[in-house]
Order: sequence, then structure tokens, then C-alpha cells
Amino acid sequence: EQAQQVGGPAVIVDRGQADRYQARVRLGRRLRDALERRQLSVHYQPVLDLKSGLLVGAEALARWTDEERGPVSPAEFIPLAEALGLMPSLTRLVLLRANRLASWASEQLGRPLRVAVNISAGELHAPEFTVRAERFLAAYPVAASQLEIEVTEQTLIQALPRVGAMLRALQAGGLSVALDDFGTGFSSLAVLQQLPVNKLKLDRSFVQGLEDDPRQRVLTQAVIDLAGQLDITVVAEGVETAGQLQLLRTMRCDQVQGFYLSRPLDTQTFQARLHTWPQTMQALLDQS
Ligand code: C2E
Ligand code: MG
Ligand code: MG
Ligand code: MG
Repeated sequence: EQAQQVGGPAVIVDRGQADRYQARVRLGRRLRDALERRQLSVHYQPVLDLKSGLLVGAEALARWTDEERGPVSPAEFIPLAEALGLMPSLTRLVLLRANRLASWASEQLGRPLRVAVNISAGELHAPEFTVRAERFLAAYPVAASQLEIEVTEQTLIQALPRVGAMLRALQAGGLSVALDDFGTGFSSLAVLQQLPVNKLKLDRSFVQGLEDDPRQRVLTQAVIDLAGQLDITVVAEGVETAGQLQLLRTMRCDQVQGFYLSRPLDTQTFQARLHTWPQTMQALLDQS
């Protein structure tokens, strides 16, 4: 990297760094425009119940295709949206679409299907979050029963003293709360019973070790058993192989989500496949 020193050792103008900064500023501007024009889309990854083989929910995942760069990963544009204060409008867009899809799917299936929306750390910590959530649920009264919010283990533990009561109030109104990326936050299992959560999502890193690491299986079984006793539903995320699916079934994990079952799907494809999951699930279980 070509570095140029100006004045003293404290001020270093790095050409590569400056270019990357400029590119990020421009990308941020295009993200803001795209959001204003509602050009972001939402994909939905099916969540399947292991016992019944039924589709029980879906996770809504934001997607953005930038005119210049093509598809940009959420790992890049979510932090950018956070930094630019765009998360409230991004989340609102995702919530509206998710709510619409959940209504449609629940009606089609004749039973409730919950769509989960990710809530970032910054939003959960923001003092306005409660007001925003209450306003949304007042405007869309059925939303509470067909939506779920996902907050990561780390985010929730950090924000708990302040947001615990608020989440309980939302739960009382019918909203489901899921603890995302569980197993990455180093919180003890004992803390689970104090958390306002209906669901626990076992992180992909957990699932990855299942086939090769016996200790990982012991740990996973302990989490599944404890969650069961606390009436918390366990979802394994990032299920990529037949072996993982089979193990999770014998371990009595409640629900599964992952590429082995389905990639996140655009709305049309999700809708087209709505009724096929029992057969798909049966075929996958037969193979495993
Ligand atoms: P997450 O909430 O943990 O979402 C799961 C991620 O894992 C998704 O990545 C999904 O496509 C991916 N995934 C699902 N199954 C598999 C699998 O079997 N193998 C592998 N390797 N990956 C799998 P995605 O869509 O790229 O999103 C990444 C993260 O970005 C999400 O992690 C979430 O934290 C964040 N994100 C995405 N959309 C939104 C949103 O609308 N709002 C907020 N706040 N965050 C979002
Ligand atoms: Mg998630
Ligand atoms: Mg997750
Ligand atoms: Mg994860």
C-alpha cells in the first residue's frame, strides 16, 4: 500500500484507505436512494417442523442489488445502514413485506405461519424502539400474531435491563421473540430462563460441529433439553447436510432451517412452494 506521510507520524494519508472510504460513502448514498425508492427486496427462508414435517415459519432476509456493484451482502449493507441511521426505515420495509406475506400464507394454509424479522442491536437499544414497535402493532393489529422478532444473544444480554420489560409487554400482545445466533454469545445456559424469549436459534457454528464432534452433540442435547423444559422452541440454523438433519431429529430438536432444506427464496418462489413442504421434508428425511 502506498502511504504518504504528512507533517508527522500521526497523520498518515493512505491512498487505498481514502479510496475505500470514498467508495463506502458513495455506496451509502445509493443505499439511501434505494431505500427511498423501496428498491430493496426481501427473501424468505422456510423454517420446518421436524416432528410434523410442516412449514411453520420463515425468516425474512433483506436483499439489495446495487446498480453499480450488483448484489451486496447484508453483512455489508446492514452495518452501513446502521451507521447512516437508515435501520428504522429498512426494518419498516421488511416488517411490512413480512406481514403481508405472513397474512397471505396463513390464509392459504388455514393455520398461522410466523415470519421472523431481524432487529439489529442499534435499534433494540434505541429509546424510540418501544414507541415504534407499539405504533406498528397498533396500525397492523394482526401483525403481533404472525410476526416474530429475532434479536441476537449478545444484543439481548447487553440491552436486557432496559428492554426486558418492553419485550415481555410485546410478548403479552402476541408477538414472538427469538434469540438469534445462540451459542455465540458465551452467556451461560442458566440465563435462558430469565430471558423474554419464545424461541432459541442454535447458531450455524453449533450445527457445523455436530457430525464430527461428540462434545458438540452433548452440548447441543443439553441446550435442547433445557429449552424444552423452559417451553422454549429450538430451531437449528444453517443445516447443510443430511447427517446434521438426522442427528437433530434424533436429538428432538423442534425446528430446522438451512440450505439443505431450502435457500432463502424470493416472494414468488416462496409462494409457489407453499404447499409442497410436507413432501419435500419427507424426501429429505428419507435420504438421511
Ligand atoms: P441471521 O439472522 O443469522 O440470518 C441467517 C443467515 O444465514 C442468512 O444470511 C442466511 O442466508 C444464512 N443461511 C441460512 N441457511 C444457511 C446454511 O445452511 N448455510 C449457510 N452458510 N448460511 C445459511 P444473510 O441473508 O446473508 O444475512 C446475514 C445476516 O445479516 C443475518 O444473519 C442478519 O443478522 C443480517 N440481516 C439480514 N437481513 C436483515 C434485516 O432485514 N434486518 C437486520 N437487522 N439484519 C438482517
Ligand atoms: Mg436471524
Ligand atoms: Mg441467525
Ligand atoms: Mg447466524
